[in-house]
Amino acid sequence: MKYISTRGLSPALSFSEILLGGLAPDGGLYLPEHYPQFSDADLSAMRAMNYADLAFAILSRLIDDIPAADLKAIIDKTYRADVYAYARPGQNAADITPTLKLEEQLYLLCLSNGPTLAFKDMAMQLLGNLFEYVLAKTGKTTNILGATSGDTGSAAEYAMRGKKGVSVFMLSPHKKMSRFQAAQMFSLKDENIHNIAVNGVFDDCQDMVKAVSNDAQFKAQYKIGAVNSINWGRIVAQVVYYFKGYFAVTTSNAEKVSFSVPSGNFGNVCAGHIARMMGLPIDQLVVATNENDVLDEFFKTGVYRPRGSANTYQTSSPSMDISKASNFERFIFDLVGRDSAKVRELWASVDQGGAFDIHALMAKVAEYGFVSGSSNHQQRMQTIRDTHKKYAVSIDTHTADGLKVALERRAPKVPMLVLETALPAKFEDAMVEALGAVPERPSALIGIEALPQRFDVMDFDVAAIKQYIVNKVS
Ligand SMILES: *Cc1c(COP(=O)(O)O)cnc(C)c1O
Repeated sequence: MKYISTRGLSPALSFSEILLGGLAPDGGLYLPEHYPQFSDADLSAMRAMNYADLAFAILSRLIDDIPAADLKAIIDKTYRADVYAYARPGQNAADITPTLKLEEQLYLLCLSNGPTLAFKDMAMQLLGNLFEYVLAKTGKTTNILGATSGDTGSAAEYAMRGKKGVSVFMLSPHKKMSRFQAAQMFSLKDENIHNIAVNGVFDDCQDMVKAVSNDAQFKAQYKIGAVNSINWGRIVAQVVYYFKGYFAVTTSNAEKVSFSVPSGNFGNVCAGHIARMMGLPIDQLVVATNENDVLDEFFKTGVYRPRGSANTYQTSSPSMDISKASNFERFIFDLVGRDSAKVRELWASVDQGGAFDIHALMAKVAEYGFVSGSSNHQQRMQTIRDTHKKYAVSIDTHTADGLKVALERRAPKVPMLVLETALPAKFEDAMVEALGAVPERPSALIGIEALPQRFDVMDFDVAAIKQYIVNKVS
């Protein structure tokens, strides 16, 4: 299996060749040159598999340059009950992504039982083990440079801690993460993890990362890598739980289900799109946004109009505060019949801060099952309260956005799975506002705010972060 760029001007590469990088050299995103197909018989054989076996069945069709036995070992090491240990009482952690029934035809697909209590652990843990394997094979090392407002950074650090050949340099806005998020990251003692608190906001951190990555010479010399949401390894890992969720709530492949996905960068729901393209019987893919509703606008009007960071609202579902959906180009590539010239034309405008309008294609968008909706603070709080009252289940603010839109969009008689993208414990203040009580926290994480913290403070200074990396690496 080769991977091609959505912009069509980069050479096709193998999985291991694209694993450590981000964008293709032509500015596009990588996708498999074709989607493997699962037949009815394949689906029947996969129905009873445990998570790791299912992951192997799917990933081995997309990764053919790692020997099967090695890939299996990497997957088995990743998807273990003791890694995804924070299942709710009564759930089986060995399911890795257990489902929770709220009522007839309405479920949560619980994706946030990993070490940092957000769904990003599902993919990032695999990435950590894949990175270590590929680097050892090629005798290489990498220095991952990233910016985070909380969830991505902690998931990356917990996945990469102690991994041979990998160092992590994670920039976060000083004193702007939640106390829990800061404690999670800054209490790590691993030698290969470097936390840099930047005097500024998230966008300043992002701009510093971009400036370093744009210095091609520095990037090559210091082997700067990325684990941001466009990384194909993350997308591919996320395809698996759509299958797992489907099998959990159906008994025959003739049934269809829908998924509602709290969305920001379009990575999670893009994996759903790919699962559907591979033959999973999905009815609707519900794209749920918060007040940052660029994607909702697109799916309602055909106009894609990223807003820029100055026009991004800070909300109570902060991990979805994104106004430029970096994985969206992957879906548009499929939508326009994989015409890379057309993608280049559309993004010529987006890359200049502009927009595009493809409302003429909206009938085709519907064929892919996409529908959308948005939520706001009041509705999010109300959904958390309603869910607690009606089902005695606490959900976090992001999942609440997914559930709110799912309830508006669901079709009769089609099971709806709402993807749970974080546990309530991760967003304490919002939960206290909604329910008047501090959410329960897994016992292993009680008191982490009191642990010693290790981080360096830095101003917005590109030369300084480069020097910092040079000092740590040598
Ligand atoms: C990252 C994140 C999202 C958004 O996921 P995308 O793949 O960027 O669409 C939603 N909820 C939570 C809790 C997240 O951490």
